[in-house]
Amino acid sequence: MHAMPSRSDDRPAAAPARSAPQRAMARLGLVRDIDLALHLPLRYEDETCITPIARCADGQTVQVEGLVVDSRTEQGLRRQLVVRLSDDDGAGPGLVLRFLNFYPSLQRSLATGARLRARGEVRQGFFGREMVHPQVRRVDEHSPLPTALTPVYPTSAQLPQAYLRKAVESALARAPLDELLPPGAVPEGLPPLREAVLRLHHPPPGAGLDALEDRSHPAWQRLKFDELLAQQLSQRLAQQERARLRAPLLKALPGGLNQRLLAALPFALTAAQRRVCDEIAADLGRPRADADATMAALPGDPPAPAGPPACASPMNRLLQGDVGSGKTVVAALAAAVAIDAGWQCALMAPTELLAEQHFRKLVQWLAPLLAARGHSIAWLTGSRKGKGRRQMVERVGSGDAALVVGTHAVIQGDVLFARLGLAVIDEQHRFGVAQRLALRGKLAHQGLEPHLLMMTATPIPRTLAMTYYADLDVSTIDELPPGRTPVLTKLFADERRAQVVARIADEVARGRQVYWVCPLIEESEHVDLQNATATHAQLSAALPGMVVGLLHGRMPAAEKAAVMAQFAGGAMAVLVATTVIEVGVDVPNASLMVIEHAERFGLSQLHQLRGRVGRGAVASVCVLLYQSPLSLTGKDRLRAMAETTDGFEIARRDLEIRGPGEFMGARQSGDALLRFADLAEDSALLARARRLAPRLLATHPEAARAQVARWLDSRAEFLKA
Ligand code: ADP
Ligand code: MG
Repeated sequence: MHAMPSRSDDRPAAAPARSAPQRAMARLGLVRDIDLALHLPLRYEDETCITPIARCADGQTVQVEGLVVDSRTEQGLRRQLVVRLSDDDGAGPGLVLRFLNFYPSLQRSLATGARLRARGEVRQGFFGREMVHPQVRRVDEHSPLPTALTPVYPTSAQLPQAYLRKAVESALARAPLDELLPPGAVPEGLPPLREAVLRLHHPPPGAGLDALEDRSHPAWQRLKFDELLAQQLSQRLAQQERARLRAPLLKALPGGLNQRLLAALPFALTAAQRRVCDEIAADLGRPRADADATMAALPGDPPAPAGPPACASPMNRLLQGDVGSGKTVVAALAAAVAIDAGWQCALMAPTELLAEQHFRKLVQWLAPLLAARGHSIAWLTGSRKGKGRRQMVERVGSGDAALVVGTHAVIQGDVLFARLGLAVIDEQHRFGVAQRLALRGKLAHQGLEPHLLMMTATPIPRTLAMTYYADLDVSTIDELPPGRTPVLTKLFADERRAQVVARIADEVARGRQVYWVCPLIEESEHVDLQNATATHAQLSAALPGMVVGLLHGRMPAAEKAAVMAQFAGGAMAVLVATTVIEVGVDVPNASLMVIEHAERFGLSQLHQLRGRVGRGAVASVCVLLYQSPLSLTGKDRLRAMAETTDGFEIARRDLEIRGPGEFMGARQSGDALLRFADLAEDSALLARARRLAPRLLATHPEAARAQVARWLDSRAEFLKA
């Protein structure tokens, strides 16, 4: 038996976890007593009663007790341990316990004459009724039965249930479960926290097991309410914290860069683009009211900048707009405002390819205007090394580069900005939380933080925006530029591939271009590559006389860029690609996209991919090739793609299928954002928590902070990002 780690109150154990189960617990976020106390059962097992063996019915999960009358190993296909258990009176046929995997120690403890309790599902075996791999325990005649249901906790492979149970049990005795909330704060009819927690860990038998298991029981409601409240409070605290920060005040100058860029664009902004530009400009140029009057400086605050308080609060804005809605130009216009005010702007994209596209666009739009003022645009990615990189880094450091475009290499250690005023992150859901934090932390200049603009084509559903992103302002481009025809989506079984290839030939004959997307096989970039290469060879053979190109993630950046340039320039008819083209690629003449093994993609990913066509005025088609037979849900998902081109609707369905954690790219953090509450199901509790949070912060700030610490301490960094 492992010794239980001793923990004091709310502090993490000082010594690092040693045993494998302890480490496994830490990985599940179970560090403090309170973490374990709030680790609630998934379900329960009823070990409070014994079913006489004669009354065990097939298919029932029951607990029996009896004496071992026979114990032997049998050599079937595999060696197995077969134990025959009989009620005390020894009458009746008894029950066979069958173990396919067993250690000698188990065999010894299940020897003839032993008294056992066994729990498992009864079924009709070849030699009568049996349990396969029951849970067994040796007992004596006086061993008491538990008086409460036995909890079954969510756990991991390295963490045995029995170990976790003991850990929770001992933590429960110590965990601070005192009521933090003032009277009247908790919704009517819900129990005090301690009572709720204890009941959920050890419910008495027969007491509304259904309500416990479906989590509608008042004890569950209480826990969900507290969780939602903690989460709302943490958002508000983050908001307050941000309100204390300062950022440069950035205002567009009359006749300045922003206006000149607008005048130089080959198109007029849509009404939606104008609206979001105004929203952003308002954030950047709003002087911080009462900057120093009401905000007493806290210890550790950066010194207030000298002179008049020409500063703003840092913008923290998400720009969402469907694929092709024209977010890039909005970012460019914001950059122009920052540069006009004498600050630098950084624009980051999740992939090199996308960064490169941005770079081209921005160079085309802004470089002539910037050159007139002696400024340049820098380009920083991971693959750029050596002297080229050093020169870029220098130009960023000297402030010579007014605009810096690249991948996350832009925020790597040795890159120091002279005066960063605005950071734009494209497709932020693909950006790691840690990266966003690094960005916030390191870039302040003379106590002034950069403004942050995040852009995404995967809109955040309203409920999520309200809960997880309460600290985020959201701008939405809800209109596509004029002259686009919606993409028609068609489903084809893979058997009809030849037809699809014929269609490609037609399209190319009409002067159009085609994408062929090969699927991503998770964890196997190598197989991916083989697929893409093989498909490329097949299509080249099937389409003689046409230029068929290949693009995949393993190619050196320069080669990728060359292929992309060839396709963008119209010299290449068909581009076979892995998902490297998922985001941002912009070739308006491409009118057909074929997605192979569409069933392997997520809905949002399909939507992103599909957004690569339909960028010009020509009618475009997206063919989803699938491997039949499709599962029922698989069919539904693909059908949803054919039915709607609305990114919001698709995001909503994606959320239904995948759940919020994964939706937001939080999977990498290993944390589900809400453990117990469900945004859809518990909307009434959520509304209540939302109303309570600001009042609680105003009237009981200490309690509010304690509530957040209790629930989220280990996750606070994560949620703030
Ligand atoms: P996304 O929102 O997906 O990032 P982009 O910024 O790449 O979209 O824009 C898609 C295409 O539409 C680009 O070629 C861009 O130049 C063009 N575009 C953007 N705004 C307009 C507009 N108002 N009118 C016409 N074309 C536009
Ligand atoms: Mg884009």
